[in-house]
Amino acid sequence: MSRSDVIIVGGGLMGCSAAFFLRQRGRSVTLLETDLVGRQASGTNFGNVRRQGRPIDQLPLANRAIETWRKAKELLGSDVEYLQSGHMRVCYRDRPENVEKMEQYAADARQMGLDLEILTGNALRARFPFLGPEVLAGSYSPLDGHANPRLASPAFARAAKRLGAEIHENTKMVSAEKIGTDWEVRTEDGRIFRAPILLITAGAWGDKIAAQLGEPVPFATLAPTMSVTEPVPYAIAPAMGVMTPVEKETVYFRQVARGNIILGGSTRAISYPDLYRAYVLPQNTVSQLQQIRRLAPALGKLNIIRVWTGIEGYTPDSLPVMGPSGKESGLFYAFGFSGSGFQIGPGVGETMAELIDTGKTDIPLAGYDIRRFAKA
Ligand SMILES: Cc1cc2nc3c(=O)[nH]c(=O)nc-3n(C[C@H](O)[C@H](O)[C@H](O)COP(=O)(O)OP(=O)(O)OC[C@H]3O[C@@H](n4cnc5c(N)ncnc54)[C@H](O)[C@@H]3O)c2cc1C
Repeated sequence: MSRSDVIIVGGGLMGCSAAFFLRQRGRSVTLLETDLVGRQASGTNFGNVRRQGRPIDQLPLANRAIETWRKAKELLGSDVEYLQSGHMRVCYRDRPENVEKMEQYAADARQMGLDLEILTGNALRARFPFLGPEVLAGSYSPLDGHANPRLASPAFARAAKRLGAEIHENTKMVSAEKIGTDWEVRTEDGRIFRAPILLITAGAWGDKIAAQLGEPVPFATLAPTMSVTEPVPYAIAPAMGVMTPVEKETVYFRQVARGNIILGGSTRAISYPDLYRAYVLPQNTVSQLQQIRRLAPALGKLNIIRVWTGIEGYTPDSLPVMGPSGKESGLFYAFGFSGSGFQIGPGVGETMAELIDTGKTDIPLAGYDIRRFAKA
């Protein structure tokens, strides 16, 4: 049996960054991961490091995260390919009311330290000549950007390990029970771990564990559609996406330094978390390509060389479960990031470490309380 201050269940970006920041605070940490760290949503996502478009009261968390993204190379000792190359969100002519929404959002975001520039007409075309004729306006965030999801969580895990965290891959938690003041966690291969604090960062599997611990959460697990094109000369620095209430229109893309263009969004498939499997549906890729042609017609001529997906957990209000348990002392959750956890990931890890270590945080978490579902 092994004992530490904190057991973390789930080695995605949330778990690995929490392990890193807990070690920075001197807490002993054991992280358990069913598979390999960063192999699920945190390693398969699009890589948007985008603050704009988030709920306004999530911006303090997003701002905290961006500080870590900026210094990731020095902090973690490895490059996660973070590029602060801007992010652009556009709306189409058939929804002109979105321009006003963008302007209101920009005014509110400015109060929270996020500066956005609204572009229309000639200014928009001059700056982004590749946008399609249906694009009416855009909101440009110069200090957002993108990073490589395949690198991020393993970099946090390695850095946490260097600071002394125990990282157990291929180790699945099967039960957790409070015995006295300790949590006793049992794994599929029969090992036992104990700690006074248990943090559940199990992504799309978080609801199952929360239900096991007596706090069920309504949840859907879906598979967003991703593609990558052949490489072309590097020309587009910002990540770009569409602001729309219609799922099939929600496409986005970014170009990596090697020249390939990564495409994401439009319709999603169901996934099979019990099997650790999700499949790309051809009709979703077709829908994505149709919508990408509206956003930037020239991209429609490129060949797709690979498609993939991942498993993401969604709550009914698209907000995560983040904070202490509503029932048990020493139990914390951070899961259900509903398709937008990558950017805030390092902020989530740092905030959970602060909350666990000091019992408080200035980051607003009230909207993420697990008890909101019990009330509903
Ligand atoms: C295809 C796709 C595209 C996306 N694009 C973006 C984007 O561009 N921008 C953005 O901000 N967000 C994006 N997201 C969402 C983002 O990736 C997630 O919100 C975020 O990575 C969630 O991190 P996590 O650590 O909570 O979950 P995960 O990365 O899924 O990690 C959870 C881990 O818990 C482990 N686990 C589960 N059960 C157990 C157990 N019993 N014992 C031990 N370990 C367990 C799993 O194996 C898994 O590794 C996307 C998601 C997907 C799938």
